[in-house]
Amino acid sequence: MSGPVQPVDAAVEQGPLARIDVREGRATTVGGVPISRVLPTKGRRTVGPWCFVDLILPPDFEDPHPLEVGPHPHTGLATVTWLLEGEALHTDSLGSEQPIRPGQLNLMSAGNGIAHAELGTTQGIHGVQMWLAQPEETRHGDSRFEHVAELPVIGFPTGEATVMIGEIAGHRSPAVVDWGTVGLDVDLRGRRIEIPSEPGYEHAVIPIDHALKVDEAIVEPGWLALIPVGVEAIPIETSSDRARFLVVGGEPLGEPIEMWWNFVARSKDEITEAWRSWQAHDLDRFGPVSSRLSRIDAPAPPWLGEG
Ligand code: MN
Repeated sequence: MSGPVQPVDAAVEQGPLARIDVREGRATTVGGVPISRVLPTKGRRTVGPWCFVDLILPPDFEDPHPLEVGPHPHTGLATVTWLLEGEALHTDSLGSEQPIRPGQLNLMSAGNGIAHAELGTTQGIHGVQMWLAQPEETRHGDSRFEHVAELPVIGFPTGEATVMIGEIAGHRSPAVVDWGTVGLDVDLRGRRIEIPSEPGYEHAVIPIDHALKVDEAIVEPGWLALIPVGVEAIPIETSSDRARFLVVGGEPLGEPIEMWWNFVARSKDEITEAWRSWQAHDLDRFGPVSSRLSRIDAPAPPWLGEG
């Protein structure tokens, strides 16, 4: 899944959060698939290293739109693919060819540059595509791809949580990330749950199928509740008896990032350079991808003006 970041998403970063803050998602499409763009959002580009969250909406099984995202590049970020329904095939310029099903994790770190394609292999896909901004130490480095077929699941009195990335209550995901990060998929079976959280991390709660009350804030599916650092547990309630939601978080990045299209960097010049490499078919930076889908051309960065 591609998830090009558009100018409307390029929020001006505000200072650290002082309290829980709720933001609506923005309805759009990626490769024809309807999504809710959860992050970046108004005034906020990052939650820990998480800099992009697209919630793919449940498929219309009468008329499912196929997921077909042809070869496209990334820099400076790791893509996190997490499906809720359906199956997809990931191929990339490292030579990876990996099917993914619900409960499994695909983690692809771009470093200086990678290209990949994603093809739905079932009718209709429901899931989430997320990016982690890579820190300075790794964002210019080698790319890598990891598929994790089995992840730890923690039982709670009222549900369970799958640890996609990071650690909670002594349960650690084997996925290798290069910054303090957590990502949980929570299946609440009851009215209330309390998720332990690392006080040094900032967090976001993203409801998938039912509205939640996060502390005192009401959050609808496809929205997010931003939670500042200093919290040791996140209290969550629902008025339904079952709710699925994500909790993502991490150590604050501590530096502003630039995002445009499929690139994450620290300056517009770096993004322009990546854009030129992709448009020039620079195979040293963005290698060939095995896919029957067409390569996706990048639009011109808006700061370069027309033509
Ligand atoms: Mn992509």
